[in-house]
Amino acid sequence: MQEKENAYKMTQRYAKEMDHSDALASCRQQFLFPKHGKKDAIYLCGNSLGLQPKEAKTLIEQELNDWAKYGVEGHFEAKNPWFAYHTFFTESLAKLVGATNKEVVAMNTLTVNLHLLMLSFYRPSKQRYKIIMEAGAFPSDMYAMETQAKLHGFDPADAIIEIAPRAGEHCIRLSDIEDAIQKNKSSLALVMFGGVNYYTGQYFDIEKIVQMTHDAGALAGFDLAHAIGNKALHLHDWKVDFACWCSYKYLNSGPGAVGGAFVHEKHIKNKNTFRLAGWWGHDAKTRFKMKKGFKPMQSAESWQMSNAQVFNMIALRASLNIFDQVSMQELADKSYHLTAYAEFLLKQLTHLKFEIITPSNPAERGCQLSLLFKSKGKEVFKALQENGVIADWREPNVIRIAPVPLYNSYQDIYAMYKIMKDCNV
Ligand SMILES: *Cc1c(COP(=O)(O)O)cnc(C)c1O
Repeated sequence: MQEKENAYKMTQRYAKEMDHSDALASCRQQFLFPKHGKKDAIYLCGNSLGLQPKEAKTLIEQELNDWAKYGVEGHFEAKNPWFAYHTFFTESLAKLVGATNKEVVAMNTLTVNLHLLMLSFYRPSKQRYKIIMEAGAFPSDMYAMETQAKLHGFDPADAIIEIAPRAGEHCIRLSDIEDAIQKNKSSLALVMFGGVNYYTGQYFDIEKIVQMTHDAGALAGFDLAHAIGNKALHLHDWKVDFACWCSYKYLNSGPGAVGGAFVHEKHIKNKNTFRLAGWWGHDAKTRFKMKKGFKPMQSAESWQMSNAQVFNMIALRASLNIFDQVSMQELADKSYHLTAYAEFLLKQLTHLKFEIITPSNPAERGCQLSLLFKSKGKEVFKALQENGVIADWREPNVIRIAPVPLYNSYQDIYAMYKIMKDCNV
């Protein structure tokens, strides 16, 4: 990999050559790109909302047709029977997060899943009630932690410990997470982190955080919104207790689409694990007997309350059909180079006053770079917009770009660079 990296060049011809030798180049054809005038926009916003897989429309029409044709019988007679619709995601999701089929389920939305899993795995006592989380987490996660602490009668200011980057730094040091865990060893209930921080793009060492947390006698949960479909994950082997995610970012399933959850096998097998129940979490064999007495399925499906939200899930199937064709290793390799190429080009832009706050070590990041501007950030963002680049602006002065290996090209990255190079602000 290193050889290629030393050879990165600042020419469009080079970017074109890279695209020609890209094993994943054909995946791009399977997505629809927004237009800028007559041309495809340069879409670098897959960390916010992934592009629409072309197949989504056909698959949605399939279910609309089966609904028209069968009515209620579609639950069993549809080509993809709706009573089992959530199971059509299991294998692909398990592969993406490194889990057994029993440990994952597609359901609800991210924040809802976070709350449901916390009801199972944040069971504080007077002695053990503290939550360690990253400072600057996504607001939904902050509000979830705050209200979970309150639900159990704790003062969030006392119960929640936030780990922040040190003064003058942008990313969180693993050693600072470790120190906080050690310091709160006897009162710690839960360590809840993102996989990849949405703002800086920092990827955390999930395996190490789990080890340190378990050594302190607490549980470890992760919000994988920015990690799933971005980094190769091994949740089962890393002994992660629980995790949840949304699928409209790198998993391209459309706005507000179904989220997902992971629960480690050991908690599924544990008879004392509590979960709020609904009929779809009940043992499938006796579900339709409609009897009293909840008997959980022996899988993460037991956290499902309701029957599958079919129309909110279809596009995810279209996207996973594309993920199924590639290996996480192929994706990781391209992600490494595409992001490193973007970093290489951005570093040439000395006339613009920004620093890249995403870690430069590829092991500590995915396919996102966050550019913190000292000045003129908004003007640069406008120039990108006006020239057909869709990126993301975060107050007060950050531009986030996500070179997504599944559908972005080296020429996309070069085009972004050229616009910024010609930008006189
Ligand atoms: C995108 C994102 C969310 C959004 O939550 P929803 O419940 O899907 O609206 C929450 N947390 C993180 C870390 C995110 O990146």
